[in-house]
Amino acid sequence: MIPKSHPRYESLMKREKIIDGFKRGIVTYAGLIAHGRGETFDYLIGEKSEEFAIEATKVAVAAIKLSKNPVFSVNGNVVALAIDDVIKVADAFNMKIEINLFYRTGERIRKIVKEFKNRGVNVLGDRPNARILGLDHARALCTKEGIYSADLVLVPLEDGDRTRALRNMGKKVVTIDLNPLSRSARTANITIVDELTRVLKNMMRFVDVSENAAREILSRYNNEKVLKDALKHINQRLSLLATLPQDKW
Ligand code: ATP
Ligand code: MG
Repeated sequence: MIPKSHPRYESLMKREKIIDGFKRGIVTYAGLIAHGRGETFDYLIGEKSEEFAIEATKVAVAAIKLSKNPVFSVNGNVVALAIDDVIKVADAFNMKIEINLFYRTGERIRKIVKEFKNRGVNVLGDRPNARILGLDHARALCTKEGIYSADLVLVPLEDGDRTRALRNMGKKVVTIDLNPLSRSARTANITIVDELTRVLKNMMRFVDVSENAAREILSRYNNEKVLKDALKHINQRLSLLATLPQDKW
């Protein structure tokens, strides 16, 4: 047990969830590495939702509200870290949930389906009947009623290749990725440079946005500026810390 008083309690709890997901066969080896990379960027960002993230989150909410068939694409890490918040967000925004795995095996899919079933939620993805164009077989599998026909896909912690393929199919792609330099971050229409569980909680705060307000927010949005703001934030934060004595870091 990690004591609540531990200075890195939040971060360690997330790590425990990932390890637990790995032991249960939901998270892959590569998922462990991806989590570590996320932790690194979160350390550099300062482990809180900065203005560039809040702005992108509001825009993501606006885009989801205005879409016709929004799909929340989940993988092992997303389920291990935040299944209950995924369910809340999907419910609040009328989104279908589809399992989409980078390392797809029938067994992992079944285990993830079961996690949702145990909470009374049906998800798509265990019986794929369509393909994402331009990807090789296992990675391309998706469902017609879900990702294939979606006008917007929320794909947290996604690989750059798949983000590109979804964009090439004409979909609006929203990603959540702590690394502003990743290909996914640079390829998505809307990139939320922030930690998954914080983002899902923030989305729920903005759920009441009106359609008119949503249109207005979307029309002003510039994703490249948000990515640059994230880079500037990391840069300035580290420069500032380097002027302080180490006990103030
Ligand atoms: P790309 O293929 O887009 O260049 P990548 O190969 O570096 O990215 P992947 O393993 O494909 O990385 O995707 C995982 C991404 O998710 C990483 O960029 C990592 O920083 C990010 N990430 C990991 N955990 C979290 C989290 N909890 N919240 C937000 N982002 C996270
Ligand atoms: Mg990748």
